[in-house]
Amino acid sequence: MTVEERIRGRKIGVIGMARSGLAAALLAQRYGGDVFVSDNARSEFLAEPIARLQQAGIAYESGGHSDRLLTSDYIVVSPGVPLTVPIIKKLRERAIPIFSELEFASWVCRAPIIAVTGSNGKTTTTTLIGEILKAAGRPCEVCGNIGRPFSEIAADISPDAIAVVETSTFQLETIADFAPHVALLLNLQPDHLDRHQTFEAYKKLKYRICENQSAEDYFIINHDDPEIVSDQIATGATRRSFSITSTGDAMAQVIDGRLTINRDGDSENVLPVADIRIKGRHNLQNASAAVAATALVGVPTSAMADALRTFGGVEHRLEPVGSVAGIRFINDSKATNVDSVVVALQSMTTPTYLIAGGRDKGAPYTPIIEAGRNSLKGIIAIGEAQDKIFNDLGQAFPTQFAPTLEEAVLKAFELASPGETVLLSPGCASFDMFENFEHRGRAFKTAVAGLRNGKKKDETIQK
Ligand code: ADP
Repeated sequence: MTVEERIRGRKIGVIGMARSGLAAALLAQRYGGDVFVSDNARSEFLAEPIARLQQAGIAYESGGHSDRLLTSDYIVVSPGVPLTVPIIKKLRERAIPIFSELEFASWVCRAPIIAVTGSNGKTTTTTLIGEILKAAGRPCEVCGNIGRPFSEIAADISPDAIAVVETSTFQLETIADFAPHVALLLNLQPDHLDRHQTFEAYKKLKYRICENQSAEDYFIINHDDPEIVSDQIATGATRRSFSITSTGDAMAQVIDGRLTINRDGDSENVLPVADIRIKGRHNLQNASAAVAATALVGVPTSAMADALRTFGGVEHRLEPVGSVAGIRFINDSKATNVDSVVVALQSMTTPTYLIAGGRDKGAPYTPIIEAGRNSLKGIIAIGEAQDKIFNDLGQAFPTQFAPTLEEAVLKAFELASPGETVLLSPGCASFDMFENFEHRGRAFKTAVAGLRNGKKKDETIQK
């Protein structure tokens, strides 16, 4: 079936009106679909998308899902909508197909896709792949779960360009034909167990990234991740891997302190690890993964090295936000699961006070005990998870509570001495106290900036 046949004249129900849903609705309309958008939030929370839909003349409803959705030929679901909601159950009972926004966008995308998934490092690696492609002068569009929905640009990406798509489990849950040219699986850690119930179920969804690939496509895995390596993952793709050790057949690996790339048996130095601007073991994994993915679309080694020397990382990911009174502050608000806190602590080089907490995601906090053994001096717990954090970690580290993030910053500032670090790495979702992790990160930065006028007001913030 052609794209036109799949969309033109078909009754397409879109569930979720936030950015991805809106983009899918507009895309469906552009290809002649008969679109109806439904969101259970009340209209006062949807002013912006409603204005866009009205402008485009697209039918919609808000404040709940009516049975009109049940007359759809198929449904496109926005990644924020859990598949456990009653309307999805009803649609499934009627055997109405449900596709993710990612799947839908991929129908119209004529460019090859590099899709990046994993528990952690997706945004960093996706952005870095974009930077490497740009350094090589290759046209590309970076999109997906990363600010710009795939549906917003899928139809306009030139076939000669590359779509670099950050891909979440939520999106993979409802794919049908999605087949990226290069699929990258970074790592697997228990995350989103609130939504996916078991780690096994979560892993299976991640593995869907390669299920429709064929032999001319590539599936790249992390050779150092025992979960991934020990599972039998079914794919028709040609398999590749990356590693941060020196590992026989990994395509990208680290040999004698240098990141190297192996192209069909020829091993080339990319650059010394010390020259990679983003720091930490986890970022070396991200760099190694990005090098493997871009090598498979023919990017020269020099462009990889250029990008790795200059790419400074993404906001809210171990982002240095300055020093006050000799105390360093780091914003890692994007650390929304425990594993991210672990890698953050492992990359700390000074004694550290950790601000953690928010909405709990179901995994234990105990891995922080080992990760913090050398650097962690104390914890300030915030949000809904504070009691669980105290129960899991209170024996191992002095743990205090703060009612707000701002007060947590003040408390940490009082506890820390010059030369030490205050790290916001929450290990939790933000929605109990903030709109999203970006909001939380900005609040942290504002609180740090506020310290300038506080107790140690003579001090200035130095970037
Ligand atoms: P994602 O998009 O998968 O959430 P990000 O690149 O936004 O990943 O990083 C999220 C958090 O995970 C950050 O706090 C970062 O420090 C941490 N992180 C980044 N890369 C990795 C990795 N390869 N392994 C483990 N943790 C990582």
